[in-house]
Amino acid sequence: MVIGIIPVEMRGLRSHWTAQLPNQELVFGQTFSDHMLQVEWVEGYGWSAPEIKPYGPLQLAPSAVVFHYAFECFEGMKAYKDKQGCIRLFRPDMNMKRMNNSAPRVSLPTFDGAQYIECIKELLRVDQRWVPDEYGYSLYIRPTLIGTEECLGVRASNRALLYTICSPVGPYYATGFKAISLYANVREVRAWPGGVGDAKLGANYAPTIKPAREAAKLGCQQVLWLIGEKHELMEVGTMNLFVFWINKAGRRELITPALDGTILPGVTRDSILALTRSWRDELDIDVSEGKIEMAQIASAANEGRLLEIFGAGTAAVVSPVKRILYLGKDINVPLDPSNPNSQAGPLTKRLNDTIMGIQYGDIPHEWSVVIN
Ligand SMILES: *Cc1c(COP(=O)(O)O)cnc(C)c1O
Repeated sequence: MVIGIIPVEMRGLRSHWTAQLPNQELVFGQTFSDHMLQVEWVEGYGWSAPEIKPYGPLQLAPSAVVFHYAFECFEGMKAYKDKQGCIRLFRPDMNMKRMNNSAPRVSLPTFDGAQYIECIKELLRVDQRWVPDEYGYSLYIRPTLIGTEECLGVRASNRALLYTICSPVGPYYATGFKAISLYANVREVRAWPGGVGDAKLGANYAPTIKPAREAAKLGCQQVLWLIGEKHELMEVGTMNLFVFWINKAGRRELITPALDGTILPGVTRDSILALTRSWRDELDIDVSEGKIEMAQIASAANEGRLLEIFGAGTAAVVSPVKRILYLGKDINVPLDPSNPNSQAGPLTKRLNDTIMGIQYGDIPHEWSVVIN
């Protein structure tokens, strides 16, 4: 180690941007709004009064359990501004429910989700100027829960901190859809039966970066996570996976892996299932949750039965897939057969437009929660 190689001005925390950037210059998760929400928990006492304070560094002991044993879970949600200038959330109760499912898995305390949504609303009122008002732009909200006890013993933390920060973000695809290539990873496994793949734990993400960088070297934007000897499909990067095909029975079917404990229960996933089930008769499609094997994808592609594949999550809503690199060979996925220039199939596009329409308040729906 060379002492003194880091210039003085780069030592310590890099201060965050305090200025608001023009929308076009936003990079995901790099600028933060002025304030943060913070609530402490102490075993035997419970939760303290929530506080909204300026965004800034936390003071934590180097022995805090979060740094050693990854006592951490988080959420990802967004605030959208509608045409009237009102701020809206999308199904925030689902994020709270999921966080209260993740927390006990790492022995962190649960909390009242409805009350915490009220706290987040208050934070958004304080930082309302940080919610971009252009369609496609939004304020990403990151609730985070960490164990803070100063202790190297491997056991549950007797102290915790629940905080929320916000980051203005642009549309995932600045110039419309851009279909992605997937690297079907037959070596590393993201989650496994009996594991924690269904909880949004920080510990699930750091190990995914090495395979993602290897995928990038092979020209693929995301990892397609597989499991088992049959190479069953699980998820795409940090998105849920949907396959639209003509199944062996000759039926048009939208299918996504079932929530068997290895799959993160996405809010977008749930919304897509509910919407497509409501369109079932109109579109004459089956909607199902179940196993999908790579061999089935390959044969569907060969036989012209593969229609669309896409990832789904809060960041991009849907992310169309054009190619899967599997065991050294490309499987090409159709986009829109009626339009060679299109970067998304018709069902992928309709889902995107409907969900965004609801999020931005253009389509009235109970999923969209207005903040008064
Ligand atoms: C967060 C996440 C998703 C998507 O969940 P949404 O609630 O739709 O944003 C999917 N898969 C993984 C692994 C995730 O972490």
